[in-house]
Order: sequence, then C-alpha cells, then structure tokens
Amino acid sequence: MNKPRGPVSIPQSRDLVAIKVTIGRRCYVLCSAYLSFESPNPPLRQLMELVEWCKSNNLPLIIGCDANAHHICCRSKDINQRGLDLLEFLNSSGLDILNRGTKPTFVTRNRQEVIDITISNSWSSHLVKNWHVSSEVSMSDHRYILFNLETDTVSEEREYRNPKLTVWSTYRDSLSRNVGLPVRPHTIPQIETSVENLTRAVVHAYEQSCPVRKARSRQGVPWWNPELLALRKKARALFNRAMRKKTDADWDSYKEAQRLLTGHGRLNKHLNTIGLSPDSRCRLCGTSDEDSVHVLCHCPRVIVNRHKHFGAGYLAPEDIREIPVDKVLAFARSTGLF
Ligand SMILES: [Zn+2]
Repeated sequence: MNKPRGPVSIPQSRDLVAIKVTIGRRCYVLCSAYLSFESPNPPLRQLMELVEWCKSNNLPLIIGCDANAHHICCRSKDINQRGLDLLEFLNSSGLDILNRGTKPTFVTRNRQEVIDITISNSWSSHLVKNWHVSSEVSMSDHRYILFNLETDTVSEEREYRNPKLTVWSTYRDSLSRNVGLPVRPHTIPQIETSVENLTRAVVHAYEQSCPVRKARSRQGVPWWNPELLALRKKARALFNRAMRKKTDADWDSYKEAQRLLTGHGRLNKHLNTIGLSPDSRCRLCGTSDEDSVHVLCHCPRVIVNRHKHFGAGYLAPEDIREIPVDKVLAFARSTGLF
C-alpha cells in the first residue's frame, strides 16, 4: 500500500469512518462501521451515502461492520429484526456479504456469535480472497477478521547490491582492463579527466562484480515490537485456558490481561485519550502518563509491590516477557489501578 489518502468525509457520524487508499494504480475505499445496539436507527443513511458516493466514483468499497445483527445469511445461528433490516439494506444497495464459515467473530464467556460482517460493493467482491476469522488473540471481544485484497499492484521489490558478495577476481580484471595506463596529468582539466575515468572504471568494475539483487519489502509496522508479541502470547494462553475450562476465574484473568496489555481500562492515559479524564498522569506519582508500561515497570510509588512480586524495584519493558502472566496479573491487582 502506498500514498494513503485522507479520510472520506461522512457528515454527522460518530460510528463510521472511511478512508481512501491508493494501492498500485487504483483507489479503494475502506470503511469501519459500528451499528450501535442501543441506537434504534443505526447509521444506515450515512452508510448509504458512502455506498452511493463509491458507486458514482466507480470505487471499490469494503466495509468492516460490527452489525449487532443476526441473520443466517450473515452466518449467524438465528434471525432478529436488525438482521432483517440489515439484509434489506444490503440487498437494496447492491452490497455483498463476504463472511465465510460459522466461526464466531465475537467471543465472551456468555456469548459466541457472528455479529461482525464484511461487506463489499460489486467493484470489490471479487478482489477479496481468503476471508477468515483469525484464531489470534485480538485484545477485544471481537476476533480479528483477515482477508487478502487482490490488487493490480506488482510486488514491491527493492533492488540492492551486497558488497560482501562481490567477486573480487572479476572486480580486479574489470578494473585493470578499464583503468588504462597511468598518465601523469599536468593541468587541472587533465586531473579532472583522470579522476572521472578512474571513478567510472571503479564503478563499472563494482557493478560487474557485484550484481544487483532483488528483495521483497518486509517492512513491518513501526509500533510492533517483541514486548508486544510476548504480551500477546500471554493473553493467548489465558484465552485458550478460558475457552477450555470455561470458568469465571479464567475469564476474569483473560479480561484483566486484556485491560492490562492494551491499557484500555481504568488507566488515565486511555481515559484521557477518549475524553473521560482531564488528566493523563499517573494517579499515584503524577510524574508520567498512566499507562500499562509506566505502572508495570516505572512508577516509583509501587516499587515495594514490584519487589514483592518480581524481586526488583523497577523493570525494563522487555523484562515482562520473562515473567509468568499470573504474576503480572497479581502485581497489577496489588496496585489497585487496573
Ligand atoms: Zn506513577
């Protein structure tokens, strides 16, 4: 994906966000829609406007939708009124449901349902392949929904030379052939010509002896790191235990781990971000933003707790990888912040 474009303007909508992106030579519109369960009138009108706009601009549209609706056409086990309304909307708008299989997209201790649907217009239905619900822990009650978007882009290949793989015998042969016999230059233009010739010979010899290689770009997202990977593994283990044992205690541990690892709980940094707290600073020390890493590793007001649970007053974020998740949860509970 290159050149991401700005958001597509959707007036008066808190529950829809859409962006236009350029992939290869085409533009696509990707939308996230939340059809609130509390709202008697989900934002179908705004969704309709977006659908019409994409249609008039011949743009492929893919919508990831938390629909809160049940209909067997959406792979739910039953049908409710919202499901019927939604299906009518989809039919009248010429939209397709891309869901495959019956694996739940929403999993809690009490409910396991398909309430998330992926919708596309006729310009993009055939481009979506391998739609599936991931088994990966998502840090939400909703599971990750993954699919491949077939585009007309050629794979992004990077060209490079690796000097360590230079064939030096070829380099020497080429250089001695091209550099010519040394001639003592007497004037400034002669010096410049000699330098130019030598440079050209060196570059040519290098290009001949160290061929260009092609590598696919494997650049990851900048915010991902080994600590997050380790934390996700811990949460995955708790999720699997909760699904296997189905006890309240195991579900509580999993939910606690979710709040702890995402920082989406009662921590001030998150509450401040979503406008529910005027202050993002730590309630205990007031010196830093109150997020998971601060509390787990750095907050000076809980060094005694940290010592008791981990045997150290302070931790580096990477230390969390080595600590069993039950211990991390016990420490988190002891701070009273989560
Ligand atoms: Zn603090």
